[in-house]
Amino acid sequence: MQSLLKFITCGSVDDGKSTLIGHMLYDAKLIFADQEKALELDSKVGSNDGGIDYSLLLDGLMAEREQGITIDVAYRYFTSDRRSFIVADTPGHEEYTRNMAVGASFADLAVILVDASKGVLVQTRRHSRICALMGIRHVVYAINKMDLVDYDQGTFEEISSEITKMAVEYNFASQYLIPVSATVGDNITKISKKMPWYHGKTLLAYLEEIDVTDKTDATGFVLPIQRVSRPNREYRGFQGQIEVGEVAVGDEIMVLPSGNKSKVKSIYNMMEQVDSAFAGQAVSIELEDEIDVSRGCVLVRDTELKVGKMFTAKILWMDDAKLVAGKNYYLKLGTNTVPAVIMNIKHKIDVNTGAKVKAERLFKNEIAVCDISCADQIVFDKFKNHKDLGCFILIDRVTNMTSACGVIEHSLRREGNLTWHEMDITRDLRSKQKGQSPKTVWLTGLSGAGKSTLINELEKRMFAAGKHTMVLDGDNVRMGLNKNLGFKETDRIENIRRVAEVAKLMNDAGLIVLTSFISPFAQDRQNARRIIGEDSFVEVYVSTSLEECEKRDVKGLYKKARGGEIPNFSGITSPYEPPTHAEIVIDTAGQTVEESVDHLMKELEKWGC
Ligand code: ADP
Repeated sequence: MQSLLKFITCGSVDDGKSTLIGHMLYDAKLIFADQEKALELDSKVGSNDGGIDYSLLLDGLMAEREQGITIDVAYRYFTSDRRSFIVADTPGHEEYTRNMAVGASFADLAVILVDASKGVLVQTRRHSRICALMGIRHVVYAINKMDLVDYDQGTFEEISSEITKMAVEYNFASQYLIPVSATVGDNITKISKKMPWYHGKTLLAYLEEIDVTDKTDATGFVLPIQRVSRPNREYRGFQGQIEVGEVAVGDEIMVLPSGNKSKVKSIYNMMEQVDSAFAGQAVSIELEDEIDVSRGCVLVRDTELKVGKMFTAKILWMDDAKLVAGKNYYLKLGTNTVPAVIMNIKHKIDVNTGAKVKAERLFKNEIAVCDISCADQIVFDKFKNHKDLGCFILIDRVTNMTSACGVIEHSLRREGNLTWHEMDITRDLRSKQKGQSPKTVWLTGLSGAGKSTLINELEKRMFAAGKHTMVLDGDNVRMGLNKNLGFKETDRIENIRRVAEVAKLMNDAGLIVLTSFISPFAQDRQNARRIIGEDSFVEVYVSTSLEECEKRDVKGLYKKARGGEIPNFSGITSPYEPPTHAEIVIDTAGQTVEESVDHLMKELEKWGC
């Protein structure tokens, strides 16, 4: 039976990628199989009992494609007497890194081109590093354009020794070096007479013979749930593709992250009821007990997958906008999508030397190691142990673009050592004792909009009504808790994060918290909402216009800002992003303070304050 090799070619515009593939096809009279044929072949060696498995086309960075991003990767299909091939051809232009990462995520092997006349370049290192990052285990270095260096053995050996030194770090399962000339055709399909000193294989022979079977250590049974199907009242099936192992009716399985256990009642594969199923098959599984299972959960048996919120990962940044720690993204891993924050950038990796470089920001095409914290518990594993549950993408919450792809290095022990102590005196008891429902009333608006004035009056009234309150004010917090923070982007994010965490603790103590922060960026307010919790967060947009605020200029700050004395002043030299879904909006212009507070009190009542 013919096996299939999925590979990628890596090289810059003039390195000769297309010539190389073109020559191989032409020389060997390889047929370009049409897409359907190739799939048919693949399905035969695959797991779909000979039927065409179109999902093969959707391998790789599936999530990336679900995002609907046009990626410039062309897949070509061809077949020789001994093997079928799919090659991902990624054009060598500007968006190359992103395309290559997508191509690499699909491939078992990479052919990395090196121009013999130029030697090992930064891009050779970059390509090798991205392949390693995306989990490619087998690499062929095609040292091309040997004709330009007179087929010189010395040149080849020099490049070989440099590559061998470089690649130690990547720990590829196999790596092979072949001196070739893509234009002339040396060592592509026939051994070249011009390089008698080379005793290895031709590129085609090597690609036909190499064994890329994945020998991962994954054991047990793993089924990430994609969908819960409820065609009628009696049946509740959990659907997905088995990633590891086998399952049979009667097996005891566990649901992660909950840890609940049950037994398999029935299994369906392609509408047919079966007794057992194995890796690669898409199934619908019914359990004996009514336990909670939803998309993103994983059914397992005998595995040691991690359940947690925090991990360290290596990421490839693909966004035009730079990465700043503290920003919020959606993290998509397997079938699960959760809000997540990049807590810190531990270091960047110099693509050239592999050195760890300290960094506060990350720019497009850079690779870094970061700590990531998810809003909910997720099921994951080290990429090394488990490809599918070890890699993820980060999606920008505003633009919906894929900002990064990454692989998990390890879970954060910090989290393992910390346990949230559930106290006997709960938030619920504390709030009942105070006879109120704890909320954080988050006022946002320009400087001078009236936030502090309103909060001061509001608190007096609430106090008089017997409510238990606490005020967190921008300036006051910056004089104490946050006095080590300035006004640059990372500090600003951290300022709001700390305030939100403190507000949450005060809510847990049963208090109504009133905050007064300009908080000009939607993302930061969203982060605060996430920390404090949707049910407790009441956003009040004090929408007083810039003209009115500037006219009031209570603290003389607008005058200073206009005079260039204050950089990053919201509304003047830095943007203010008005909330689009605030619970309450209030414009204080043309109202007395009394009238504004009356209005606010009435509105707040509706939100349970
Ligand atoms: P912020 O805290 O938003 O920077 P401040 O409360 O410090 O704003 O300043 C608002 C100014 O506007 C105060 O001088 C206040 O007296 C004045 N003001 C006029 N009308 C109102 C109103 N209806 N509500 C709140 N403040 C008002």
